[in-house]
Amino acid sequence: MSKFKVGFVGWRGMVGSVLISRMVQENDFKNISSFFYTTSQVGEKCPFSFSDCDKLLDGYNLDELKKMDIILTCQGSDYTKKVYLDLRDSGWNGHWIDAASHLRMENDAIIILDPVNRDLIDSSFKQGIKTWVGGNCTVSLMLLAIHGLVKENLVEWVSSMTYQAASGAGANNMRELLGQMGYLYNSVSDLLHDKNSPILDIDEKVSESFEGKDFPKSYFGEALAGSVIPWIDSDLGNGQSKEEWKGPNETLKILNTNYEPFKVDGLCVRIGTMRCHSQAITIKLKKDLSEENVLQKISNGNDWVKLVPNDRENSIHNLSPTKASGKLDILVGRVRKLNLDNNMFSLFTVGDQLLWGAAEPLRRILSIITK
Ligand code: NAP
Repeated sequence: MSKFKVGFVGWRGMVGSVLISRMVQENDFKNISSFFYTTSQVGEKCPFSFSDCDKLLDGYNLDELKKMDIILTCQGSDYTKKVYLDLRDSGWNGHWIDAASHLRMENDAIIILDPVNRDLIDSSFKQGIKTWVGGNCTVSLMLLAIHGLVKENLVEWVSSMTYQAASGAGANNMRELLGQMGYLYNSVSDLLHDKNSPILDIDEKVSESFEGKDFPKSYFGEALAGSVIPWIDSDLGNGQSKEEWKGPNETLKILNTNYEPFKVDGLCVRIGTMRCHSQAITIKLKKDLSEENVLQKISNGNDWVKLVPNDRENSIHNLSPTKASGKLDILVGRVRKLNLDNNMFSLFTVGDQLLWGAAEPLRRILSIITK
């Protein structure tokens, strides 16, 4: 049987490069014929020895795209808006796999998170669905963290307060965060080297630096290093950010009718970490379960959940973005029955948002389709 022809668009960006490196790690390219498209470097040499094209193809050329059985794009919503409908209208009937949010809520698109909604993926595949979209990173990471409770239909509602990494905003934002850190450090490095310098002098200089005319903030628009930004994505005009809107709406779409629906709400906050999102979750269960029972159910959720004991040492040393970075683990700790109500629990979860939050569900749907 001939191999599926898969066209990759957006492979050079942050999500795309993580995807390619995971596919190389898992030896996925041996199962497909791969072709690489670009929106800016048409005709340049393709950098991958395993590719079936020598030169980079034009990501806007519908005739070139139509030759593919599957197109996998991590290029972003603007690209999807420009190409997707024209390609479908031209009669192309291949599988479209997308990291961008633009098509997520369309009726003929499935939000993919196969450890949670494999049944929905399989039934949709049988019905002829051919558009597969990765979910919002915090939603996917939250659902994986509480999967064990969700699959037993135990959840009444969830409130998630997020601590989201710079990587969620793109490669340039990650660079800017580090630029801000360097700028702040440089503004007080002489004082830091003098052990006797007063801390209030250091603090005053740092405060002044935030206002410095060279302080790098063209991507975030504000200081993230030494600060937080309590708004992510666009303003819906009702006090809610688009990122917060995705929580309940994408959750419902991912769970579909395979699970009982539950309410989700919360605040989304950008913090100065590199690529792992954390969430402080308050969860109201439908039943009064013991802490031990809840822990057991959470750890049975899926193969990636890793419980961290709720004590000081483990929480400080084993439950942080630095411990989740570059790994598929979904760390879950601080699980505790709250004093507010017998059915309420806290938990803190951390996951690499470029892996389970972005690239991994795309890699896995490609593998499901091609197998
Ligand atoms: P990105 O890093 O900004 O890359 C997008 C495209 O920008 C690249 O494919 C590349 O296209 C072009 N580009 C221009 N200059 C570049 C440079 N110096 N280095 C690398 N690429 C450059 O975008 P992304 O963060 O991967 O996000 C892609 C899509 O995934 C977006 O829709 C985003 O919303 C979605 N998503 C992102 C995340 C996340 O964590 N970042 C999570 C889930 C979903 P050409 O090669 O064609 O020029």
